Amino acid sequence: MITATEAYFRTELIERRHLLARATRDSHRTDLRDLLADVDAALARLDDGTFGVCDVCDEYIGTKHLTHDPLARCCEEHPTPGEEDRIHRDLALAHDLQLGLLPRHGLAIDGWQFRYRYEAASEVGGDFCDVIQVPARNETVVLVGDVSGKGVAASLLMSSLLATFRSLSSLALPTGELLTRVNALFNDSSPRASYATLAAATLLPDGAIDLYSAGHWPPLLGRGKAAEPVPIQAGLPLGLFPVSTYPGTRVRLSPDDTLLFYTDGAIDAENGGGEDYSTPRLARALATAAVDPLDALVDRCLLDVRQFQNGQPATDDLLLFALRAQH
Ligand SMILES: [Zn+2]
Repeated sequence: MITATEAYFRTELIERRHLLARATRDSHRTDLRDLLADVDAALARLDDGTFGVCDVCDEYIGTKHLTHDPLARCCEEHPTPGEEDRIHRDLALAHDLQLGLLPRHGLAIDGWQFRYRYEAASEVGGDFCDVIQVPARNETVVLVGDVSGKGVAASLLMSSLLATFRSLSSLALPTGELLTRVNALFNDSSPRASYATLAAATLLPDGAIDLYSAGHWPPLLGRGKAAEPVPIQAGLPLGLFPVSTYPGTRVRLSPDDTLLFYTDGAIDAENGGGEDYSTPRLARALATAAVDPLDALVDRCLLDVRQFQNGQPATDDLLLFALRAQH
């Protein structure tokens, strides 16, 4: 029996065949001739009843996908090698663009030193960090966050969130107010189930730091041979509710102190035996590396997480961000 859908695709394909045949008549373009052969093959599949069946899984490819590409031979879950190459190229480009959104490495501003390590679980990730100077307030704002979800969707939200922070930072608002505004905008513009957790630090000219949390893990303070989480008052994650406030907590760093911000990808990293790396382990790694130069310190912490994982693949994006006062 010929269904209406089959009749529709047959008409579509025959029309394309006419146009292609006309275009290839006086042309030596082999790509057009190949395309013509593909159209003929699709018409043959309509004749023998295999049109719209995935070459890999034998499931129906789906009318939506076929309408987009009546020559499709595989479902969306089973891209052909050519499509796979294209997807990889796109993702590689997205990966480079995303790294370009992060602060440049080796950054030092007004007596503050920053080092971070970012490892996405796939080509692109939802973790993010930024260092924004606010000249009108003589302050620098550090952001370390984690958008819900993973992969391309999370990376799109992450870049939109970074852009929102950067554009609103020109208003030179106090950081708590900046977070309230970004929360409202993110809540308006992001899909229902999306949210982001974020830790922020305002570096003040006198060397003090105001810490803020939008549902994010508090940073670890490494001091001498000890390291522990800084108790800060947490606000709600960004994007959960339209209105939210973010109180700050003031701390002061001595010259050799280190503040270490981190995301789930570090402390939730599993060792294959169902055990998480956890915050106390990260605190011990930080304490062990406390007198190292900042670069070596973040490397040692990252290595400690990866050694704990013992070859288990990372399932979440990981970000470690360390900050030290040079004055
Ligand atoms: Zn398939």
